[in-house]
Amino acid sequence: MNCPRCNTELRSENYKGIEVDRCPQCQGMWLDYGELDQLEDIVLDKDEIKGTMIFSSFQGKLPCPKCGAAMQRFNYRAYDLELDFCERGHGTWLDAGEEKGVLELMGQRIKDLKRKGKAEAEWGNFLRKLRSPSFFDKVKGLFRR
Ligand SMILES: [Zn+2]
Ligand SMILES: [Zn+2]
Repeated sequence: MNCPRCNTELRSENYKGIEVDRCPQCQGMWLDYGELDQLEDIVLDKDEIKGTMIFSSFQGKLPCPKCGAAMQRFNYRAYDLELDFCERGHGTWLDAGEEKGVLELMGQRIKDLKRKGKAEAEWGNFLRKLRSPSFFDKVKGLFRR
């Protein structure tokens, strides 16, 4: 397989336990189908909270290194990171350093969810207080003449 950017032959290498194809020239990375998911799993392995993988896609310019068809460019999980994928399900192309972007965004997602979880827990406590009779009595007391 050749690099879709600079046409250099890709070399397989082990990236954090995943066998990927890396371009020795531009440092881009090809992930076979399912390997992007594996990459995310290093940081976050719960699919149900990862969000939508492909958030709006459009025709890109890079050819799929497997079949040569023009890949679709997409917003990775609605973040400000654009990746290319082959519509025929061959895989995903990451430009140099974008694999780190994916890992950082997954880390960010965990923080966001923890913050959201905390906010929801506090809201839950607030609602429980509202429901407790003593609280209602106090509120009613405020309006009693
Ligand atoms: Zn390249
Ligand atoms: Zn393809």
